Amino acid sequence: MDALPITPGELLCLGSSLAFSGLFYYLHRRKAKVAAKIQEAPKLQVGDDLRAVLSATGTSCLQYVAIEGVVQPDEAALTSPYHKELQGVIERLVLKEHRLVWNSLARSWVDSERVVLEQVHSVPFVLTSPGGKAGAKVSVESPLRAVELPLETVYERFQQTAHGFKDLLSHYLSGEKPKGFLETEEMLLVGSSLTGIGELALHPDGSLHLQPPADGAGYFLRLSDWQSLLAELESTSSFWKWATLLCGLAAAAALLRALCRAYWSRRLKQEKEQERRAFEDLRLHKGLAAEPDEELPASICVICLSNPRQCVLLPCGHACCCFRCFQALPRRTCPICRSPIDRVVPLYLV
Ligand SMILES: [Zn+2]
Ligand SMILES: [Zn+2]
Repeated sequence: MDALPITPGELLCLGSSLAFSGLFYYLHRRKAKVAAKIQEAPKLQVGDDLRAVLSATGTSCLQYVAIEGVVQPDEAALTSPYHKELQGVIERLVLKEHRLVWNSLARSWVDSERVVLEQVHSVPFVLTSPGGKAGAKVSVESPLRAVELPLETVYERFQQTAHGFKDLLSHYLSGEKPKGFLETEEMLLVGSSLTGIGELALHPDGSLHLQPPADGAGYFLRLSDWQSLLAELESTSSFWKWATLLCGLAAAAALLRALCRAYWSRRLKQEKEQERRAFEDLRLHKGLAAEPDEELPASICVICLSNPRQCVLLPCGHACCCFRCFQALPRRTCPICRSPIDRVVPLYLV
């Protein structure tokens, strides 16, 4: 049975390239779909007559819209514990420990961080008209379910850890050096311009709500406009497309290499088979049996049947007799094929 025309290395390369290519294509399609959906979504502002837009569609719900407005708390706002004058509707407090860890492979200290504490607080909030139109508002539902929280850093403090001589020794022994703690506070501030992309629903009491889409499409709350989100998604989608293409090319190269090798190996095999047949034909043509004579040892002179064969008769090439028998030939013709002998060379068997 023929060996597999592909080596394990090529098979691994082909398999992994195809798997990565499939994964990257899936990521590309997912980003491209979200980008297309955002492009098609109606672009609204809180000041617009949203009830009229909804009644024009004949439903109480628009599945996917991009809406811009200004953040205002529905009731009481959150106050920053570090800056009493700052008020927000979402707050995230994070405490991270920074340390240096000895990497024995790289033979150096590398930075490492660990979240010690994370707290997220939010209060109900609405988007109001950027133009200051009174009464126009849209409640933002489940803001913590957004793809990424629209927060800006309002406080950051790094507290360095003090080290004594004993500590330094224990750091070298344990392979870990604490650097310090980073405390940050991020907030979605009252008065920020926010773009929400999701489902817009009109409740029976006449209030408008922006909520995560029921069909599972992305729910976005951003401090930038929808165009910058679209540009980001398109750039990510394009990155995954190129990654898919590169992996596809790697898979094609591995396959082509295996096919080329299989072709050359088959061709070499055919050439060898042709040569073998030609040699057999030649042997038959020269009057030799296709297989060596069982009764006569192949190395014994065919004339005296006692001495080893020693001569190659040229040009016919028969190596059939010892030198004494060659000298004793009545005519200078080959005893096998009768062709004239021009010269004789010694036979070397190895
Ligand atoms: Zn002989
Ligand atoms: Zn001959």
